[in-house]
Amino acid sequence: KAYLDAIEAHNPRLNAYITVTADQALEQAVKADQQIAKGEGKALSGIPLGIKDLFCTKGVLTTAASRILENFVPPYESTVTAHLLRDGAVFLGKTNLDEFAMGSANITSAFGAVENPWKRKGDEAFLVPGGSSGGSAAAVAARMALGATGTDTGGSIRQPASFCGITGVKPTYGRCSRWGTIAFASSLDQAGPMARTIADCAVMLGSMAGFDPKDSTSVNREVPDYLAACGKSLKGLKVGIPAEYQIAGMSEEILGIWQKGKEWLKEAGCELVDVSLPHTKYGLATYYIVAPAECSSNLARYDGVRFGRRVEATTLDEMYERTRAEGFGDEVKRRILIGTYVLSAGYYDAYYLKAQKIRTLIRNDFIKAFEQVDVLLTPTAPSAAFAKGEKMEDPVQMYLNDIFTVPASMAGVPALSLPVGLSQTGLPLGLQLIGRHFDEETMFSVGYGLE
Ligand code: GLN
Repeated sequence: KAYLDAIEAHNPRLNAYITVTADQALEQAVKADQQIAKGEGKALSGIPLGIKDLFCTKGVLTTAASRILENFVPPYESTVTAHLLRDGAVFLGKTNLDEFAMGSANITSAFGAVENPWKRKGDEAFLVPGGSSGGSAAAVAARMALGATGTDTGGSIRQPASFCGITGVKPTYGRCSRWGTIAFASSLDQAGPMARTIADCAVMLGSMAGFDPKDSTSVNREVPDYLAACGKSLKGLKVGIPAEYQIAGMSEEILGIWQKGKEWLKEAGCELVDVSLPHTKYGLATYYIVAPAECSSNLARYDGVRFGRRVEATTLDEMYERTRAEGFGDEVKRRILIGTYVLSAGYYDAYYLKAQKIRTLIRNDFIKAFEQVDVLLTPTAPSAAFAKGEKMEDPVQMYLNDIFTVPASMAGVPALSLPVGLSQTGLPLGLQLIGRHFDEETMFSVGYGLE
């Protein structure tokens, strides 16, 4: 009830939820109380969560923040949300996002922008919460949920976590099932938890993860006890500092928190090691070929026939055209155009195939670095939260936000962001930890130590 009250008080301004499922939440809470009373409480019994509106929830509107799905009520539950329900969680509602998770500021939602609950010192400007999981991040930061689900294709959990002063984890690709999560770029999309602390994220991920035969890229590996990894000694761990993340023109503040992070880990007994990830500079360019390519293919299914919105017309072609023209927003259209172009017969080798080859080189960089170190420490984003309106004229300026988060996505390795300090203007700043494939545990241990 307290969380529903908070939503009622703050959501009209912050716009973090698209749909609030108050009745359902209260029913689920009563059920959780009964389970606990019988001594049958589970890991998440009664824990109120926000669910990014990209996860299909049975009987509950699921929009992907797009007009084209504004009336879509899935007849099934995504695997990740089914796991959370199995473990007793209470769903408060569906959180806002960039349309189809394409964006870094939560300004492309068909249901309006989300406002970051933080304000700059002495300034009332509307700040963005980051994206695409901006609604989830804002909901947790404003205490409109204890935790929330996010999805991360190129940074969509980590960057909004950093902008809103919370913790967000992108697990290894294949750790969480993608079944029932609306697809953006299937070879990159991963679900993960967003919460106030590393330990909260550890409990949530333990529930969300796990093998699912319905997703062919889900990996059949046991899910470790992530909570047990929190609090382990860090003595002797090797922490890599990748030279290539020291980009030209990086702000003093970001350099400052990175330096602090290094010092804290040294005090905790870690050894700092300089490493190189030489193909980092190609990360953004290749991501913005691979992700749109997969998006153009995935979004072909929204044709007005099987689900979602249909704009009636006299011919079938005209119906497709009008449905897609009216249903998709500008950023989604831009991605579909780029994706269709790089996949087209004349350009496939020059763009898509080349990007895939560079992706392998990026992945190999990480594998090589992890022969020397246990975890990598970098900033999460090149800046603190910015004001709505900034970086909006030029899409490339927006894409630059993802410079530190995209490489881990391309490599499929796990990465998290945790809040470590404030900017001079009083806004949260985050650091990123990147781990070996399927070694989220070391990342959690180090994150817990940094926190
Ligand atoms: N900002 C990136 C993009 O727009 C990442 C989005 C995401 O991770 N879903 O593609």
